[in-house]
Amino acid sequence: MSGVMVVAETRRGELREVSLEAVAAALSLSRQGAGPVTVALIDAAPQAHAARLAATGVDEVVTVTSPRDHFEAHLTASAVAALFDALDPSLILAPHSVDGMGWAPAVAAERGLGFASDVIALEWVDGRPLARRGAYGDRLVATVDFPARERVLVMLRPGAVEPATEDAAPAPVRDAGIALDAAAAATEHLGFREPETGDVDITKADFLLCIGRGVEDEDDVERFQELAERLGAALTASRPLVDAGWLPASRQVGQSGKTVTPKVYLALGVSGAIQHLAGMRKAGTIIAVNTDPQAPIFGVAHYGAVADLFDVADALAGQPS
Ligand SMILES: Cc1cc2nc3c(=O)[nH]c(=O)nc-3n(C[C@H](O)[C@H](O)[C@H](O)COP(=O)(O)OP(=O)(O)OC[C@H]3O[C@@H](n4cnc5c(N)ncnc54)[C@H](O)[C@@H]3O)c2cc1C
Repeated sequence: MSGVMVVAETRRGELREVSLEAVAAALSLSRQGAGPVTVALIDAAPQAHAARLAATGVDEVVTVTSPRDHFEAHLTASAVAALFDALDPSLILAPHSVDGMGWAPAVAAERGLGFASDVIALEWVDGRPLARRGAYGDRLVATVDFPARERVLVMLRPGAVEPATEDAAPAPVRDAGIALDAAAAATEHLGFREPETGDVDITKADFLLCIGRGVEDEDDVERFQELAERLGAALTASRPLVDAGWLPASRQVGQSGKTVTPKVYLALGVSGAIQHLAGMRKAGTIIAVNTDPQAPIFGVAHYGAVADLFDVADALAGQPS
């Protein structure tokens, strides 16, 4: 028994980024002594993605062909359980995603594995994993140990780890020889429904102005909307402003909002909680304005000003357009 088995995730014919993030986490654990890394890919057409995964530096990619075109929790659970029995890994690494939640806790319970969801970092210490999770809305970080479990399943939060790059010599890819019974599926895929993008699709904009709880009054939102228009930016917000109903959900950036990659991201009065960073850290240039020099947003910002956001907004509004 050894090694890490990553369960890759696809959706609508695409390999999801969190799969490569989980591979990166597994490779890091392997360097710390966790053993070889195997990636399991369960999909209607696994060959379409196997080569990408095989080029990340993993030891092997094993595929299982699903009889369904789309994810089905019971089929995936039965495939992962069969792979676990065959490969006997010390650790299964799954995405903490809607799909992952459909199968991973069930497999952990069925096989008696140690289990942690929404994990943001992993280490390999004394022959077993240590997982870090946010607690109290991520104000604290809890370290989870599994002293009584020889094998563990961990669900990794999307965006918590930089994805693995695809520049290694290709690893072997093999069919695991597991035949999935279509009759085991207990749900039916009816279709995908796109979320409403609202008047602006913030995932396509080049310049985003994001306001956070530093804007303390709903009445001020309008002036930032005007400022955004003046600057040629789309206005976005952190979650508390959306929860308060100040802006629509289509404008929320972050883990439970939109992932954005604009050329410029100007954040005013946003602290930079990990759930917010998950949605914007890949922006081309990040500029942060915050009165608190310790605000985590400065950890990802390319340019930062420890300043009052209203002073900065006034100065920007005074610029000739
Ligand atoms: C499961 C889960 C999912 C979540 N998903 C998301 C998500 O998708 N997106 C998201 O944003 N959050 C999300 N959150 C919430 C997240 O944890 C934070 O609570 C939130 O991002 C904080 O928003 P904020 O930065 O606007 O507010 P705060 O954390 O309150 O920060 C306000 C900042 O404004 C600064 N400030 C105050 N006054 C001024 C001023 N006059 N000038 C300049 N700076 C000033 C303060 O120093 C502070 O840093 C999620 C939380 C959980 C648990």
